[in-house]
Amino acid sequence: MAVNLSRLTIHEAHDRLQRGELTSLALTQALLDRILAVDNDLQAFLTILPEMALEMAAAADQRREQGDDHPLLGIPLALKDVLCLEGVRTTCGSRILEDFIPPYTATSVARLEAAGAIFLGKTNTDEFAMGSSTENSAFCTTHNPWDLTRVPGGSSGGSAAAVAADLCLGALGSDTGGSVRQPASLCGVVGIKPSYGRVSRFGLVAFASSLDQIGAFGKDVTDAAILLETIAGYDPRDSTSMPIPVPAYRQALTGDVRGMRIGVPKEYFIEGIQAETEQAVRAAIARLAALGAEIIDVSMPNTPEALPVYYLIAPAEASANLARYDGVRFGLSAGATDIWENYRQTRGAGFGPEVKRRIMIGAYALSAGYYDAYYLRAQKVRTLIRRDFERAFEQVDVIACPTSPFTAFKIGEKADDPLQMYLADVFTLSLNLAGNCGLSIPCGFDSSHLPIGLQLLGPAFGEEKILRAAHAYEQATTWHLQHPPI
Ligand code: GLN
Repeated sequence: MAVNLSRLTIHEAHDRLQRGELTSLALTQALLDRILAVDNDLQAFLTILPEMALEMAAAADQRREQGDDHPLLGIPLALKDVLCLEGVRTTCGSRILEDFIPPYTATSVARLEAAGAIFLGKTNTDEFAMGSSTENSAFCTTHNPWDLTRVPGGSSGGSAAAVAADLCLGALGSDTGGSVRQPASLCGVVGIKPSYGRVSRFGLVAFASSLDQIGAFGKDVTDAAILLETIAGYDPRDSTSMPIPVPAYRQALTGDVRGMRIGVPKEYFIEGIQAETEQAVRAAIARLAALGAEIIDVSMPNTPEALPVYYLIAPAEASANLARYDGVRFGLSAGATDIWENYRQTRGAGFGPEVKRRIMIGAYALSAGYYDAYYLRAQKVRTLIRRDFERAFEQVDVIACPTSPFTAFKIGEKADDPLQMYLADVFTLSLNLAGNCGLSIPCGFDSSHLPIGLQLLGPAFGEEKILRAAHAYEQATTWHLQHPPI
């Protein structure tokens, strides 16, 4: 039987490429064909790079002939459109950067390139990664491959949908408050947010600098581990990247969780969570117990504070970071001759409503007279949230909980209600505030056959632990083998 090339995982494709049964050129062409066939319906990509991808594939095939065997050599991937790739339009889903062509490449992307990976294109995102559905993109809304009337989650919804629909073998996204894990959950793929400092943020367009981290999407845990291993590590161009060695993450995938202590925080099973989600996540935890893990109840009492704290700190940092879009140096410019008028017109036309809302909230929280009451206080509570994690990780290796309180919602359903939209990340935000690592892995379907995600949270620089637990669970289940109808 002929293999369906677009359905291969990264490690399966690598094996075939190594055995000479497949060329990167053929694989890349198959994916480009699939993108052409389905992306009109899905709208996962903002920019498709067929010529560049085929050139990269030909070069990768040559490198393989010369003996190179990196697991990403010749593997077609997608990049969230907040990551700079030299010479290729990078929009951040915003009109203000509609024609921005970065003169440099993000470190994480450069590391993929050095490994020989192929870039198929740039994927859709909520504007400046602010959102949970991709509906805040200035260009289009991405559809969920399991049900085209629903959102893929966000803000890295384009990357998650592209991996789920087999438009690429893996993808990068960014996660400031959940933007890798939540779309991974809603699209039924694996998504990992590394610890703060694990991956260089150089070339990632900044949203909230103390929370932003680049993460990876894969069709399974092994692929996520391969991607993370390649992009992780110290970078002199990001002073917050940690100068510590990168473990060989795939070696952590032993399939064995015996003796592993898994914490279950009661604060993550709250009223309002979709019943089927809670059932699936509890069943997944029972499965891990059956595999030999020890399940321990833990308490993280400051969890309810995470949402308000995040929605002060993230907008505060965003308001400072987005001040650079002034219509003077790059990006959209209204061209008014008066400088203040030019700022006003450029920013008025270039930013969408959610970005404007965040800039206003952030500027307010940082303003003289309110700084102590809002920003400073939020920072203090942030410390308490981090301590919750520290205390929990004295007792357990990994924490298990839902990724999202609900499965994929209808396009338009929450678009006019920012508070409802913010609730989509109620289980993911704390981790960014603490700086720890986490991932989402498929753990079931609801009655509408929409994917449900199990979230595994780890200590700072404890990626091996969450990957090991996730991989053992994956070995024992078949959720990740199901394919969306598209
Ligand atoms: N949905 C959250 C927000 O809107 C998180 C976004 C993200 O992680 N980039 O801010």
